[in-house]
Amino acid sequence: MSKLDCTSCGACCVNPDENQAEQYIWYLEVRDTKLLSKKDLAKKHVVYDPSGVPHLRLDPQSQRCTALAGKLGQRVHCTIYELRPKGCRMLMPGDERCLMARRERGLDR
Ligand code: SF4
Ligand code: SF4
Repeated sequence: MSKLDCTSCGACCVNPDENQAEQYIWYLEVRDTKLLSKKDLAKKHVVYDPSGVPHLRLDPQSQRCTALAGKLGQRVHCTIYELRPKGCRMLMPGDERCLMARRERGLDR
């Protein structure tokens, strides 16, 4: 599993099936990052839940984080990589969430 290459994946940058089923319309919490202080980027990629907590914005059709560029499963990159929140940084290639995300997006069986 150490051979997994994030630049040809992107599965964990899509709203997980469980969250979609529960109709979460935003993604990971935005914290431990300077993203909020970058006004233009924050406007584009951050949305606030009813409690005022900032989250990564999801594209309503694709359910992808709006900061993800490229074609899922082929060639992707995070357009705010240095500013990505802690939740993104904690996920590791090959860990449980990674493998689940890949299965949900049809990249693994
Ligand atoms: S699902 Fe795993 S391999 Fe794919 S981008 Fe996320 S961490 Fe990398
Ligand atoms: S901020 Fe970057 S790493 Fe995090 S979910 Fe969005 S595209 Fe993926």
